[in-house]
Amino acid sequence: MEGKPFIIPIFIAHLGCPHRCIYCDQGRIAHPASAIPTPEEIAEEVERYLKLGARKRKHLRTVQAAFYGGSFTALPLETQRGFLRSLAPFLEEGKVHSLRISTRPDYCSPECLAILKQHKVATIELGVQSMDDEILRTSQRGYTKEEVKEAVRELHQGNFEVGIQLMIGLPGDDAQTFASTVAEVIELRPHFVRLYPTVVIQGTQLEQWFRVGRYHPLTLAEAIILAKGALQRFRQARIPVIRIGLQPTPSLEAPGAIVAGPYPPAFRQLVESTLLYEQAASIVDGSGIERGGSLTFLISPQDISNFYGQGGQNIRRLRESFGLRDIAVKPDPQQERGTVSLCS
Ligand code: SF4
Repeated sequence: MEGKPFIIPIFIAHLGCPHRCIYCDQGRIAHPASAIPTPEEIAEEVERYLKLGARKRKHLRTVQAAFYGGSFTALPLETQRGFLRSLAPFLEEGKVHSLRISTRPDYCSPECLAILKQHKVATIELGVQSMDDEILRTSQRGYTKEEVKEAVRELHQGNFEVGIQLMIGLPGDDAQTFASTVAEVIELRPHFVRLYPTVVIQGTQLEQWFRVGRYHPLTLAEAIILAKGALQRFRQARIPVIRIGLQPTPSLEAPGAIVAGPYPPAFRQLVESTLLYEQAASIVDGSGIERGGSLTFLISPQDISNFYGQGGQNIRRLRESFGLRDIAVKPDPQQERGTVSLCS
């Protein structure tokens, strides 16, 4: 039962969170804040997703139900057990194969992990955000990087699949501190990571800091450069980056919800497209091809649209920058994702 899972999200916005982090409003990021969902509501939600995703599930080997948007392991143990038990019938019937939760690194006690294991939680996503103690302190996260390391060690020892969520552009973060964060996360060998550029959401403390000039969000160009560098390094380390950029939700898209910061639609495409362009340009540069010449690139079929870029801008730029007459693109299943080569 390996491969990309079909995920059924169950949102528990801010439940368990010991405090509100300066940038966070799960009511907008994930789902409107609600009371604790009842077992019946959870079951209804799972059934709804199973019906909706019937066709998609045929192509994906595993089904996971995931508690997102809060700090699962910071909830009282009985509440955690209640949530997990509400999914037991789906696990027993084989409609759901395992569970996933997201939580904080400072709430991963052996007792909690044992409960999660017992109830078939296979994947734990940690909102790490940064591996710089000063940035963690400024963002009022409430833990240190040593606690992150300890938590990840515990999760590996417990044979959980480990995901790490990082933020780009938190207060006090810069290219150097972010590069160190990426390097330290690679050393922790998570099974996957998610990258989220920091945006200023209405009603958060970060909005107040932004209004008084205490916080300056990244520009889109800066965010792309940092995300691009991180994506490259995680790829080199063979750690999948399963998400780059916030998932658009109706609440985030509402007028005024995003006050400032890099929140373009399809942020990941922008990052991947820029990376592919830079590789192609470097190959052409070193190829000795003359102006007026033509060439064909080999690209993984999954990268084709990113390689062209929005409105074909990558091809246009390559043609103009190097005076090329024709550029052809050949899908090649043997070509590694995220890489470019020239057809000989
Ligand atoms: S960032 Fe995580 S821990 Fe902080 S308030 Fe949001 S959901 Fe809770």
